[in-house]
Amino acid sequence: MSKVELSRVEGRSAEEAGRGFFGDFGGQFVPDALKEALDHLAEAYEQIKADPEFQEELNYYFKHYVGRPSPLYHARRLSETLGGAQIYLKREDLNHTGAHKINNVMGQVLLAKRMGVKRIIAETGAGQHGVATATGCALFGIDCVVYMGEEDTKRQALNVFRMELLGAKVVPVKTGDRTLKEAVDAALEDYMENYRDTYYMLGSAVGPYPYPDIVRDFQSVIGEETKAQAVEQFGRYPDYLIACVGGGSNAIGLFAPFYHDREVKFIGVEPGGRGSRLGEHAAAITYGKPAVIHGFRCYSIVDETGEPATTSSIAAGLDYPGVGPEHSFYHASKRAEYVTVSDQEALEAFQLLSRTEGIIPALESSHAVAYAMKLAPNLPSDQVIVVNLSGRGDKDALQVYNLIKNQG
Ligand SMILES: *Cc1c(COP(=O)(O)O)cnc(C)c1O
Repeated sequence: MSKVELSRVEGRSAEEAGRGFFGDFGGQFVPDALKEALDHLAEAYEQIKADPEFQEELNYYFKHYVGRPSPLYHARRLSETLGGAQIYLKREDLNHTGAHKINNVMGQVLLAKRMGVKRIIAETGAGQHGVATATGCALFGIDCVVYMGEEDTKRQALNVFRMELLGAKVVPVKTGDRTLKEAVDAALEDYMENYRDTYYMLGSAVGPYPYPDIVRDFQSVIGEETKAQAVEQFGRYPDYLIACVGGGSNAIGLFAPFYHDREVKFIGVEPGGRGSRLGEHAAAITYGKPAVIHGFRCYSIVDETGEPATTSSIAAGLDYPGVGPEHSFYHASKRAEYVTVSDQEALEAFQLLSRTEGIIPALESSHAVAYAMKLAPNLPSDQVIVVNLSGRGDKDALQVYNLIKNQG
């Protein structure tokens, strides 16, 4: 198999790059063989999503397997402790497997099943998306292969075991830094070769068209439920929606259904890491610039040669050098505001939410909580902030224990 340069396709302009643009962002900057696979997927998705039976089946699994709807919970003690706005938590942490990722997996596994594939492949960084994918494949008895950087397989040995327990095959990727970005390349190459009988399950609202649309659509259940729950609980839409942004799937799932409700403000929280220098953070919108990575155009953290750069965050799930094209567009068009929260601030929010509400948040979600902690005290008490609690923190307890112990 020849190594294909997936990061850039030389000499192709935005118009030539294909469908699926959000303003200047998105598209399909991919070799022709991969474009063929993506076009095949886009066509199948257009047909299948319009089928009411597909929606019904998806709703069945959301309800009976994932445990939806997730509660919209008024965090009274946290709100009182901070003073100011009322904070509500959208409890994606209560989903089966402990995060929002399963929403996307359920949608895509049902799509794959309808497309009649025999095999599902996925990329994973820390292993969260790999575990969710392996879960969906076990549920329907579909062969599952997960590409994971060799470095990550060592750091996240327990998640490798979880995937294997669920019947998946984990393939360590040994090129480059041996982390997520190499795992994405390996999965795309496999997909390009095998798309006729293989489905590629992408884990966030990134990648070439149609993935950002597919992932957004399946995660939009978060925002749709929030709309109905807000009206029921306090008679109107929230004033602010806050979500952490890695690739951007939990955030776009909350934001997109409110897109036309201009009075609702969106705040995406990026991982500020240890500082603003290259290598210290993973805040693609705040510190990055528009570039093409992994087959689509977005705000990206790239090195001098235009390749995805090494990034860093206390939260493994936020550690990606790019961001979804729809977020890139929301930023450029000022529909949403993007801010950063440091590793240290996320660590403090992790502990404060645990103490005040009895809810241990994922380190990723702790970034959103941390920004709500800064914002709420400056707002009047009749304002409402909804924080997307994208996942639970059990997976992070040991890491936080070690960090706190070392900080003494
Ligand atoms: C993977 C993950 C994220 C980041 O992914 P997005 O696509 O940006 O949502 C956030 N929170 C949790 C709990 C995750 O597992």
